[in-house]
Amino acid sequence: MRRFLSLLIITAFCISCTAWVAWVFYQHELENINANFEKDIGKRVYALENEMVKMRATLRHWKSFYEAADDIEPQQFARIAEDVLGTYPSLQLLAWAPMIVDQERPLLEQYQNTIAPGFQILEINPKYVSPTQINDARLIEQIENFDPQRIFQPSGARPVYFPITVTEPSETTGFLRGMDMLSVNRMQFDEKMTEAIRKGDIMGLPAAPSPFSPEHETIFIALVPIKPSSSHPQRIPKPIRGFIVATFDIESLLSASSLSDLPDDIYFRLIDKTGDDGLFNLYQTEDFTTGLGRMYTRPVLEVFERKWVVLAAPKVDYILSRLSYLPLSVAVGGLLFTALLLLYLQLLQRHAEVVQHQVEERTSQLSEANSNLNKANARLEELSRIDPLTEVANRRFFNESIEKEWNRSLRDNLPIAILIIDVDHFKGYNDYYGHLKGDDCLRVVASELDSVFSRSGDLVARYGGEEFAVILPNAGGEAMRMAEKCRASIEKLQIEHKNSGNASVVTISVGISSVTPTGQLKATYLLDSADKGLYIAKEHGRNRVIYHTCHARLGKFQAA
Ligand code: GH3
Ligand code: MG
Ligand code: MG
Repeated sequence: MRRFLSLLIITAFCISCTAWVAWVFYQHELENINANFEKDIGKRVYALENEMVKMRATLRHWKSFYEAADDIEPQQFARIAEDVLGTYPSLQLLAWAPMIVDQERPLLEQYQNTIAPGFQILEINPKYVSPTQINDARLIEQIENFDPQRIFQPSGARPVYFPITVTEPSETTGFLRGMDMLSVNRMQFDEKMTEAIRKGDIMGLPAAPSPFSPEHETIFIALVPIKPSSSHPQRIPKPIRGFIVATFDIESLLSASSLSDLPDDIYFRLIDKTGDDGLFNLYQTEDFTTGLGRMYTRPVLEVFERKWVVLAAPKVDYILSRLSYLPLSVAVGGLLFTALLLLYLQLLQRHAEVVQHQVEERTSQLSEANSNLNKANARLEELSRIDPLTEVANRRFFNESIEKEWNRSLRDNLPIAILIIDVDHFKGYNDYYGHLKGDDCLRVVASELDSVFSRSGDLVARYGGEEFAVILPNAGGEAMRMAEKCRASIEKLQIEHKNSGNASVVTISVGISSVTPTGQLKATYLLDSADKGLYIAKEHGRNRVIYHTCHARLGKFQAA
């Protein structure tokens, strides 16, 4: 579980790092793409501004030329207009609309009739509704059945008129001759004309769909006010001689600055936000959302007193076609690295498990070997303490034990007894029955002696040849009884002994001594004392137990 958790944490960490780095690369590229996009659109907007500034300069030149001229000749106007239209393809129409007060009307109509018959000041028939106010179906119907006779009607009497007297190109826009500019959109024209007259400079009208074209494309009208010539006296004083009317098609204007033929993967919108009455869409690509990119907003230089703003954003395709494979490569590389790392960790883990298993196996083998060795050592230790023939303790172990038991009895102030036992006439037994039988006899005697003593501290040992010794710790008077029990039990075995001087069976003689150890005594004194007891037992005819008192100074035998 812990392993799984740590792998999970490592995976999560690697994936987060990968995602972060890929994201940083992606953001960096996106930033570059956006910056390049803005640079590109900025360049195009600059071209648009340039086109408009140039156009305004041309119109201003024309304006100052007319303001200095005595008269405005229709033929001359048409020629200049033709030139200007040739220079600026986005210009749809150039017209001259002089300011006419009502009393001049008959004179004007009379004069214009000499140029082209049938001229009269016209106004738009109120039945011909503006395209902004009607639905598309009605507008199309209206345009398809386009008939100037139905659109226009002779203008009613008014104090002032701005009738179009010259219009270029005359073939396509000639039907506008006579139309009073004030009748197009009375309120708005009134207001804008007043403003143009007051400022004395070019004034742009709000853009609107063209009322006279089946495409009803958005058009933009600029009014160029021509002030009266100071050198030329006026018959009727007027604030203005008239307007040059210039109409642009917004789409052509944009195409002149390569803004309308933008690639498909760009959202683009040109809005007019001059008035308080909200925004007006001058131009817009089909759909418009920001997508992955950033919305770029760029105000257009105010050329004709209009506040235009360009809004542009790259589409998803635009971004994707410019994104390099780097962020993706980083992501894929990071994931690959994570996978390899996990694989490597998995292998390491496997390897560690194998090593761990081997170590455990070796450890168990080693501990088994150790335990076998311990057993063997214990066995060796035991063997080193046991007499091989009789399998009771040997002399070496007896010597070690007597020292220990002596010291313990000394410390605890308890009596300790020693028995020295010797098989009687054993040389004769060997001689008579042979050495192997002698050995068998020794084994039986040893086993019998061993079975007599059952207390935990008691020790029966082979003392040498056919001699045995017994240590009886914490045994005083009882020791004597145990010695007698030994003697009797051997006799009771009834091992035949035909070569014995004192009996027909194997017997033993026992020397016994006991003492409560003191600082003056030594264990060897007790041993010697018991040995003296045995000597006396032999002396007195064998097959008996003799107690010998232990003294600090030996040499003085005292049989009990
Ligand atoms: P005593 O009653 O005075 O003790 O007479 P004894 O013959 O037993 O004593 P002695 O010291 O003369 O002889 C001891 C004999 O014990 C001599 C030896 O052959 C025999 N003996 C000692 N060790 C062994 C042994 O390991 N195996 C056999 N079969 N005999 C042994
Ligand atoms: Mg002997
Ligand atoms: Mg003997």
